[in-house]
This record gives sequence, structure tokens and C-alpha cells, in this order.
Amino acid sequence: MRLSGKKALVTGSSRGIGREIALRFAREGADVAVNYRGHAEEAEAVARAIEGVGRRAVILRADVSRTGDCERLVAEAWQALGSLDILVNNAGMEVQAPFEAVTEADFDRVIGTNLKGTFFVSQAVVRRWLKHERPGRIVNISSVHEELSFPGHAAYCAAKGGVRMLTRDLAVELGGRGIAVNAIAPGAIETDINRDVTADPKGRAQLLARIPLQRLGQPGDVAAIALFLASDEAAYVTGSTYFVDGGMTWFHQE
Ligand code: NAD
Repeated sequence: MRLSGKKALVTGSSRGIGREIALRFAREGADVAVNYRGHAEEAEAVARAIEGVGRRAVILRADVSRTGDCERLVAEAWQALGSLDILVNNAGMEVQAPFEAVTEADFDRVIGTNLKGTFFVSQAVVRRWLKHERPGRIVNISSVHEELSFPGHAAYCAAKGGVRMLTRDLAVELGGRGIAVNAIAPGAIETDINRDVTADPKGRAQLLARIPLQRLGQPGDVAAIALFLASDEAAYVTGSTYFVDGGMTWFHQE
């Protein structure tokens, strides 16, 4: 039980990677605040599974691209669970469009969820940790696209590049006050976010050809590293991005 007695908030945890992290944390002894934006029934299923392993779950609706929602989400999670020890900024989305066709609304949605949400949910949690002089651990779910180009996804790359530097900057600014900040850069993980590519045999084959470990990732592959980074085992780790990508980032075709 590596998170025994801990309390965690995982944004966007009604499905995909966030869901798996929330369930993994609960199985390791944590109470979890499950955040969703649209589908209450998915969040309720996650909460039932958390309660099924004997932990507390609280379900909180919030759109992390709205700063007012970020503050309310953290206030409600803190109050319902009594405090927080761990924050996982997982909520994310992408919009595919050639650069010349990206609208301001799409830019705002992508930056708002992936970068601004990560910034202001973290700020709301960190303010409480500082006020109560508590240590804490933040895990940001970035992407290999904090490093790799992704034509047709300029705003997403800009957002995840921002998450990379936010992770490093907060690690340095907050390290002296007992707060560790790390990130995970997943590669191709099978979830709804990339279903259009992974469900298409040609798209899937093209993806696999660039993955040295020769399989797509699963949400559990990311949850395993999130668990490590959230736990005391990572006590001396801050400011790092862990790539969970089957070797994809360093694959180079001659
Ligand atoms: P997903 O679409 O299955 O899940 C995304 C979650 O974020 C959903 O629960 C969704 O409701 C939530 N969300 C989206 N916008 C939100 C908002 N404004 N407010 C609150 N919640 C919001 O996708 P996933 O693959 O599980 O993605 C999780 C994270 O992993 C994202 O940050 C994504 O960028 C990152 N990621 C995924 C992959 C991959 O291959 N699946 C690769 C790299 C990075």
C-alpha cells in the first residue's frame, strides 16, 4: 500500500489514463477526488470502483479551462477529503487542424485545458499546501509532444511544451517548501483521445512501426509511473519528465 492514508485529486479521471490513475491510487490506499467535465455516469462508475476497494471517492464536476472552476474544484476536493497530498493534472484534449485553419476558439480550448488548467488547478492546491505548511506532490500528464513535433496539432504541442517548462519551473520555485513537481510524457496510449487512429488498421500499423517495444501503451503503463511519482519512493525526484512511450521518442528512421 504505497499511498496509504493519502488523499489525491485527479483531473479528468472519469475515463482513459486519469481513470486508471484514480483506480490505481485507490488500490494503493488513497482516497480520491474524481473530476469529470461531461459524463457523470462515467465518474460515478469510477467512484463505485474506488469504494469497492474500501477507499473514499468524491465526484466533482469542473471544466479546468475555466479558472473559477479550478478554484471551486480544489476547494470542494479539499473540504470533502479533509486535505490533499497529491494532485494529478491529467485533463487534456486535442483538436486536429492544419496550422493555417486553427481558430481562436480551438486554440483557447486546447491551451485552456492542457496548460491553463494545469497552471490554475496547481495554483489552487499549492496555495493551500503553503497556507497549511504541508508537503505535496504534483504529477502533470504531459505528452511526448512536449518534445516531438505533431503536424496538425500546433496548439497541443505548444500546450504540452508549456507543461514541460511549468513542471521544471515549479519544481525549482517550490522545492524548498516541500512540494515536488514532476511530469509524465505518454506516447501512444490506447484511449478515446486517439481512437480514430488506433481503430484504423493502417493508422495503427504506422504507429506501431515507430514504437521499439512493438505495442501500443495502455493506461496502466502510465498509472504505474504516476503511482511511483506520487509515492514516497520518488522522494528525491522533482522537475523530471518520465517518458512512457515504448521508446517512440528516440526512434529515428534513416
Ligand atoms: P481521454 O480523452 O480518454 O481522457 C481525457 C479526460 O480529460 C477525459 O476524462 C475528459 O473528460 C477530461 N477533460 C477534457 N477536457 C477537460 C476539461 N476542460 N476539464 C475537465 N476535464 C476535461 O484521453 P487520455 O488519453 O486519457 O488523456 C489523458 C491525458 O493524457 C491528457 O492530458 C492527454 O493529453 C495525455 N496524453 C494522452 C496520450 C494518449 O496516447 N492517449 C498521449 C500523450 C498524452
